[in-house]
Amino acid sequence: MNIYDLSYDELMDWLAKLGEPKFRAQQVWNWLYTKYVTEFAEMRNLPKSLIEELEETAVIHNATIASEQHSSDGQTKKVLFQLPDGQFIETVLMRYEKRRTLCISTQAGCAMGCVFCATGQMGFFRNLTVSEIVAQVLYFAHELAQTGEHVTNIVMMGMGEPLHNYNNTLTAVDRLTDETGFNLGARKITISTVGLVPAIRRYADEQRQTPLAISLHAATDAERDKLIPINHRWPINDLIEACHYYIEKTGRRLTFEWALISGENDTIEQARALGNLLQGMLCHVNLIPLNPTAGYSGGPSSKERVDAFQAELANFGVSSTVRVRRGIDIQAGCGQLRDRVVGGQ
Ligand code: SAH
Ligand code: SF4
Repeated sequence: MNIYDLSYDELMDWLAKLGEPKFRAQQVWNWLYTKYVTEFAEMRNLPKSLIEELEETAVIHNATIASEQHSSDGQTKKVLFQLPDGQFIETVLMRYEKRRTLCISTQAGCAMGCVFCATGQMGFFRNLTVSEIVAQVLYFAHELAQTGEHVTNIVMMGMGEPLHNYNNTLTAVDRLTDETGFNLGARKITISTVGLVPAIRRYADEQRQTPLAISLHAATDAERDKLIPINHRWPINDLIEACHYYIEKTGRRLTFEWALISGENDTIEQARALGNLLQGMLCHVNLIPLNPTAGYSGGPSSKERVDAFQAELANFGVSSTVRVRRGIDIQAGCGQLRDRVVGGQ
């Protein structure tokens, strides 16, 4: 059993079954979520017999580190974890000014098949468990703590589609924002979705504080169908309706992601169509020049095209930020773990 899978109540029940007094749960919880220990033996205020019992029946981290890469400026670090069943997932730490942002994975592979995305190109393997999502964060929290730093932001922009693994992803968010534990502000976690309409509506109904980003990438169905296969199932109008519903329900601003692909979705026509779509909406657009991947021939837009695209959006009163790409030299393997999330906005 992985101990990060347990909620506080479940931990309490479990320790009670082992015959432990009530206050043990609090002790173990603190070690896990405020001290980020990686071994039960580090839980110094527990009796030795309990530590042994924990070691026999549970694990804290069960992934191994398959590789580690640092960007040339040293600000970005990517870790490839291997899970016990052999699956690989990636987590990226990005340092930018005072921010320490983690880009985490929610699935091994992805079923959505977006043509420009390295994860989409590899296909779907499986959902990550709650503990596999949480462990990525705690691993880096532990590492950052060694230098007195801490995780300030999380983006669910690693491998996988978070809303396709809805329950585990949101349970992990709840775990990480628990005030008695890791206590990260809900607004510091961004969930990025390719646009699963029913899940967006469910998310809106749950009135969650965690910001949402929508990977739009095209403003006409003809163009989006080519890039994002699930657009056939939930075309742009349905998606935008769900976005309006979300804003109405939550009063929150939405972010739209747009990877600019040279000669593809970076035309003035697309910018106009996007302007028309988003005009008057409580939203912001992140423009990210495409990160080329092996399985897709498209390339990033030139600076002139990016500027022209942004200027056209501004004509519609739609605000946008061009994301700087830091750590690009370590090619976060899922092809999308970029610094879209740091700087600006
Ligand atoms: N599945 C979710 C979250 C993971 S992808 C989603 O699609 O939103 C995170 C972001 O990276 C998405 O906006 C995705 O469209 C984008 N992305 C994927 N491949 C990319 C690439 N090669 N270049 C730039 N952005 C990319
Ligand atoms: Fe999956 Fe997101 Fe990649 Fe599309 S962009 S294949 S939804 S990870």
